[in-house]
Amino acid sequence: MKIKYLLVILSLILACGCIFASCDETPPDDQPAHEHAYGGWIETKAPSCGKKGTSTRTCACGATENKSIPATGAHAYNTSNVCTVCETALEYTPGLSYTRINGEDAYALSGMGLSTATDVVVPYFYMGLPVMGVANGALKNESDIISVTLPPFVRSIGAEAFYMCTSLQEIAIPNTVTEIGANAFFCCISLKQVTIPSLVESVGAQAFLGCASLEQVVFVNDNVWYAGEQALSVKDAAANATMLSVQYADLAWSRTQPSAESGGGASSGGGTGSGGGYQTPGGSDRDDYGNDIF
Ligand SMILES: [Zn+2]
Ligand SMILES: [Zn+2]
Repeated sequence: MKIKYLLVILSLILACGCIFASCDETPPDDQPAHEHAYGGWIETKAPSCGKKGTSTRTCACGATENKSIPATGAHAYNTSNVCTVCETALEYTPGLSYTRINGEDAYALSGMGLSTATDVVVPYFYMGLPVMGVANGALKNESDIISVTLPPFVRSIGAEAFYMCTSLQEIAIPNTVTEIGANAFFCCISLKQVTIPSLVESVGAQAFLGCASLEQVVFVNDNVWYAGEQALSVKDAAANATMLSVQYADLAWSRTQPSAESGGGASSGGGTGSGGGYQTPGGSDRDDYGNDIF
């Protein structure tokens, strides 16, 4: 009998223990929720060029809330490639070669020079003058390059500038570019996407021919008035690849330049086109520019 009582008492103690344990885990719910009363926003980290700042507000209970302040804008580099606002030095690729642009106080990138970089960052300034172009054939056959970053002054990308850069995956064409030369990106077989910025007026013949991985070409607006023969063709005899998507901000982007092409670079007059033209996503007939631009 005594053992039975002992067992009952033991199990009661155990049960109570469990109840208390579970009580400990439930939070007290009898306190009314405290509504935070925040003070004003105070800047706790100043924004700078390229970097967001933070402002913070605090409740009397100590709780805080943060929100970010937008960056003040792009770095303002001086001719030594150092930002005049935040004093950050531009990390560019040393050893590249440049050529003076004829009759101008500016340089164009002309080659890899001493550099073996695979991610190439072109400085804003060289020898105190802005880098405003990519010369013809500048990085031709540089098959190890994976990415190229160009300064925001570049006006033209020369003929064959990136010809057979077969590893090139990333390049942003600066918004200042007006002209992309013939064969500029010929057989850049790793390139997947390209955006043609709004000032580009001319895309040279076979500029993107053989870019077998190119899935998307985005035209920012309709400024392109000349696209040479096979300018955007990605047809590759070996891979037989075709572009998946071409986006137009305005479907009327393309007009033939009557005088610039030679020997059938573009269909001339009447807009009869070749090969029956193409159908835009909007349904209008794209038959008024160079033969086989795709
Ligand atoms: Zn509070
Ligand atoms: Zn800066």
